[in-house]
Amino acid sequence: MELMTTTSTAKRHPRRPHVALRNAKTAAKREQRQVAERVLSEGLAQQSDAATAMAITDGHLTEAEVLAWRQDLNARIDVLLQHPEQNLGFIEEAMASAGKELMRQGTERACQAKANATPSCCPEHPDVELTQKKLLRRTVQARFGTMILFRTYGWCSKCEQWQFPADHALGLERNAPASPYLQEISALLTSKMPPEQAVLVAQRLGLDLARCFLHREAHRQGLKAQCARARWLAQLDSWDGIQSLAAHGEGPPTQPFSLIIEIDAWNIRERDEWGRTEELRQQGKKPPSRWHWVYVGTVFRLDHRVEGNGKRAVISERGYAATREGVDALIRQLHREAVQRGLGRAEQVLVIADGAAWIWNAVEDRFKDAHQRLDLWHADEHLWEVANDLYGKGTPEARNWVAPLLKQIRDDQTLHVIQSLGELKPQLTEVLQEKVQKQIDYFDNHRNRMNYKEIIEARKARDKGDVTPEQLLKAQTPLGSGAIESTCRQYQSRFKRTGQFWSTAGDEALMCLETFWRNDRWDHLYPHAKPSPTPSLALN
Ligand SMILES: [Zn+2]
Repeated sequence: MELMTTTSTAKRHPRRPHVALRNAKTAAKREQRQVAERVLSEGLAQQSDAATAMAITDGHLTEAEVLAWRQDLNARIDVLLQHPEQNLGFIEEAMASAGKELMRQGTERACQAKANATPSCCPEHPDVELTQKKLLRRTVQARFGTMILFRTYGWCSKCEQWQFPADHALGLERNAPASPYLQEISALLTSKMPPEQAVLVAQRLGLDLARCFLHREAHRQGLKAQCARARWLAQLDSWDGIQSLAAHGEGPPTQPFSLIIEIDAWNIRERDEWGRTEELRQQGKKPPSRWHWVYVGTVFRLDHRVEGNGKRAVISERGYAATREGVDALIRQLHREAVQRGLGRAEQVLVIADGAAWIWNAVEDRFKDAHQRLDLWHADEHLWEVANDLYGKGTPEARNWVAPLLKQIRDDQTLHVIQSLGELKPQLTEVLQEKVQKQIDYFDNHRNRMNYKEIIEARKARDKGDVTPEQLLKAQTPLGSGAIESTCRQYQSRFKRTGQFWSTAGDEALMCLETFWRNDRWDHLYPHAKPSPTPSLALN
């Protein structure tokens, strides 16, 4: 506006340019003064806010604040009662929104009190008192909304860094605005569902999380989880670590138990040139994508596997391992998980999996003394393949041919199966001969892992009600790797959706978070998430 006026003045008085100049100078001076006044008053306001904040000691809400909340709440209830069509859902919404500001104030106050009470020592060197102390304001995104926090920071002469002891005490990260609860929720939602859904779900739960906030925070939490996993794995590498693992064991079991380990893999679609999708599209190129293997394993004690009503087994406690960083990475995780769940104390260790060579090589390497079992249904499938090739898929002839062989497998007569296939070969065409030979090799490779008879008989005896205690235990032993197959399906439901692509770093981080959750070790990342032994304090 100023500029336009001076221009028009200049036009009307072409012989007086100094007037325009003078006007412009006055305007500039006025603006400078206004800016200075604003900065000064903001500074004063901040100073007075800081002084108020630093004076907080007990972190309690005042009577007046609680009263204001009650009045607001009562007014909302009055409105609700005037609307008979509004159900309990509306009451719940009204309560939640009326309470939110009070909760925010209460959280901010308690947080400030905690910050004020934190000694100004270096978090990494508690014996070092910080010097050159100053006060700094920060904004925190927390469960009930945005909070302002003032805290002291200072210089640690030992680590030669500026340290923020209150941030450390409150669980705030250096350059991230999320409170520990929002750190957790970002990690949880993003590992369970795509971010665009997570934003909407969070909103319905009363949390306003922007997509970019969620994305950045989940990324940070994924890295945190991977660091925690690395520390957890490293426990097996040091004498101290092993000692502390032994000390934290569950103590001697009341009776001997078997440990079951199941291993499998599935593939995930990953996009190379991550972040360049749009650019490549504009150039008329399709972003390259590849399929990569995700390796998974599970470990549980047999006495934690209970057959429910419909004979569907339920495993009450089990450990998981999942990674796309290769077989060695999986086996290392799985071994650590097995140690945690009693590898050293188990009477017997049994590994069950399909016929993939990498699995059995890794097992020989890391679980040398374990019994091995080929998944019965994979063995069946290989026989069915021959039957279908010989007689056509689903024909009665195929069924008749395969039936006695399926029975032989269940009777641990794998050698007979191999023999029958061998006798069949000379009567076949070259193509079929090759196919049958492949299956002969398969059964020959795995015949020492095909041991089903004892379990099937124990199950029959149990069903008849004529069972020895030893048989009862045997009957519970799985014949196949169903537990890990269902685990794969569960991971896939998040990580393998139509049109979904992952980057290597992204999927490993999210899978790491998901595995912490599944292993019931979430509170290692978020200590506040540990269920409290007492549901609430008694209110008198
Ligand atoms: Zn320090």
